[in-house]
Amino acid sequence: MVPNDYPAFLKWLPGNENVVIYKKNEKKACDIIRQSDLIFSLDYSALNRTDLMENELRISKAKKILIDHHLEPMISDFDYYLSTIEISSTSELVYRFIDHCGWIDLVDQEIATALFTGIMTDTGSFSYSCNFPETFTITASLIRTGINPEQIHRLVYDTYSEDRLRLLGYCLSEKLTILPGLSTAYIALSKEELDRFHHQVGDTEGIVNYALSIENIKLAVFLTERKDRIRLSFRSKGNLSVNQIAREHFNGGGHKNAAGGDSFDSLSDTILKLRQILEQYKEDIDRWSV
Ligand code: 5GP
Repeated sequence: MVPNDYPAFLKWLPGNENVVIYKKNEKKACDIIRQSDLIFSLDYSALNRTDLMENELRISKAKKILIDHHLEPMISDFDYYLSTIEISSTSELVYRFIDHCGWIDLVDQEIATALFTGIMTDTGSFSYSCNFPETFTITASLIRTGINPEQIHRLVYDTYSEDRLRLLGYCLSEKLTILPGLSTAYIALSKEELDRFHHQVGDTEGIVNYALSIENIKLAVFLTERKDRIRLSFRSKGNLSVNQIAREHFNGGGHKNAAGGDSFDSLSDTILKLRQILEQYKEDIDRWSV
């Protein structure tokens, strides 16, 4: 079960047909939650991250088990938790959980495909959050089940729509703003711009990483105007904590190097606010090594 819709590039995953999207099928989702004895909360650190599902989860009598790798979990929301920020992904934690239970022989190709996809996407195809050998040992054992990593990579990353690719091109050529004094790059898209490219869920995924890929840029921000808010996506290199910026100024959070948050000001006011906030962090940014 997921709170709202997820990108099309994940819909080929085995078991996709069993996923219940709460926002689209509230009645069925509530029935399932009410009949559950056990609920695994995966890849979010607090019930308030589940949007419309939050209340139904709170009143549920089921035991709740958190498996997550975000900073500062709200452990009082759960009965049990397996939460550590050091592990690449929730998928890797799920693998470790299965292993600890002694059920590793049950990991078939379908499960391995899903777990491999989770580790691959959360590490940017094994480029970050993968400094521990165990991530690769676990990945190797998933591959040994006979899954096809090249095909999985293609299905996730080489299935852009034409609109999505053109939106990426537009962001990079027309919308990228560099603040050299703050070692920051940002891209801000209005609702009108998103509509122009027939924006679908997931189309802007990953664009912020291009802004971060510039030499000497330590911090990247991607802002999108939604129906009722401005969504901010932060990325940083090295020891710069964007979680702190997202949490303290934009009601958000996440990881040290990847976080998100919201603003309820207009897009232009949000950009202004962001620039003012970053000015306050200037000395820290200058000090941060990458
Ligand atoms: P993204 O920029 O890809 O939306 O999110 C980056 C990371 O920050 C993800 O791990 C995501 O779960 C987390 N994140 C994004 N938005 C929020 C938010 O509003 N609150 C919290 N606590 N975490 C967030």
